[in-house]
Amino acid sequence: MTGGVRWVRSGVHFGVGRRVDGYGVWDWEDCAPGRSGEPVAVYPPTPAGRQMAEAAFSACEAARGPGANDGPADGETGVLAVSVDGDEIRVGDLRIGSADIDVTGLLVVEVGDVSARWGLAQAVEVQAAVCEHATAQAADGVELRTADPLLRYLARSGGWTGALRAPLCRPPGVSAHDGNSDVAGQLEALLHGVDVRRRSAAGSLRQVAVPARKRNAGPERFVLASSDGLQIVLVIPDVADLLVENVARSADTALAVMRTVGTHARHVRQIAFNQSTYGLRHAKHAGEAATSTLDININAGYVSACGLDALYAAVRRDRRRGRARQIPYPYNAVDGTTAHEMWHHIEASFTRANYTASIQFRRKLGEYFGLRTLEHLSHPPSGSDPDVLAAAVAQLRAEVSDYATTVPTEATAEMFKAWWCATEPPTGVVSHFAQLVTSYITDA
Ligand SMILES: [Zn+2]
Repeated sequence: MTGGVRWVRSGVHFGVGRRVDGYGVWDWEDCAPGRSGEPVAVYPPTPAGRQMAEAAFSACEAARGPGANDGPADGETGVLAVSVDGDEIRVGDLRIGSADIDVTGLLVVEVGDVSARWGLAQAVEVQAAVCEHATAQAADGVELRTADPLLRYLARSGGWTGALRAPLCRPPGVSAHDGNSDVAGQLEALLHGVDVRRRSAAGSLRQVAVPARKRNAGPERFVLASSDGLQIVLVIPDVADLLVENVARSADTALAVMRTVGTHARHVRQIAFNQSTYGLRHAKHAGEAATSTLDININAGYVSACGLDALYAAVRRDRRRGRARQIPYPYNAVDGTTAHEMWHHIEASFTRANYTASIQFRRKLGEYFGLRTLEHLSHPPSGSDPDVLAAAVAQLRAEVSDYATTVPTEATAEMFKAWWCATEPPTGVVSHFAQLVTSYITDA
């Protein structure tokens, strides 16, 4: 586990820290000084768990006696204080959400993006502050409206429930852990009308694969079949902190795109959450469309709590990259990335099948910006007016995203993502694009 440890108490040899899955007791002699390493024991993320961890800490301290190497200071967190004041939720000085009791006595909590801005440790603090506030308010139930994957993961781990992309609810008095069903069961619960089956490695291969997995857990494959005849395979890392909801969002988006677009989307075979390429491993890419194998690779960071923490930390360090479009609630980044990668498959299929129509499609998109074709954005013909070109790039950046201005195929993928994740009728070029997709590409 990386990041996300808040030091509750720290002694010469031992420390108690809080992390996503509960309270841990650390032995500093097993860790590099000042580093968190792995705890020797983990207790549940409840007040009773904290008491047990502190008792274990005291017993260990008493047994080993005084020594030399120190751990982190008590209360050291690297995170900002979270306050709920009136109806405002703040991280440090920044307002990130609201907490209001509505006419029915329900406490409605709305929280924006915490994970991408600060990471897992801060998400743990925000979720704890929301729970403490809910308890203090003694409301008739709590509803959490957020698309933040780590906040949703922490809430679900704490027994909050709700449908995919819907608000998560905690009825009064509930604090126990959610039912601990397997990944297939959890995916079926989130994806209505979809049958989910684990596909196991067969025969003698499995005999070899099982012992090997104990040391280095490999990915697991699931076959999803919708009641209306669509199918897709998911390849998911076998990790303890799986963000099941992000896996479900990706599958749901892919199936819905297939349903809406039809022929040019249905051939997509598989979504694999991995870091199999340089771009994914180094957090340069959120996803990649492998059009030759009909696969989509989504950065595995999106589907584990610690992986997402590391992915967002890398993105925050890399300020040079072109910013992708912000995704409005209730969608989040993995919905947008899946839609974006699905588009690359759609455009490739459409271009292969109808080359002449694909030229017309790009011409009609280019006309919106005063260009003869969208391709002139990145490859302007000689003698073209630089002012017209600069204005077109600025307009594309304003209406779609920074990243859309890189090459025409990324422009259309970003437009598709903007259309797919829109919560209001799209305007400008995205609306124009949607009309063109409907007339040129989707099944009648
Ligand atoms: Zn792309």
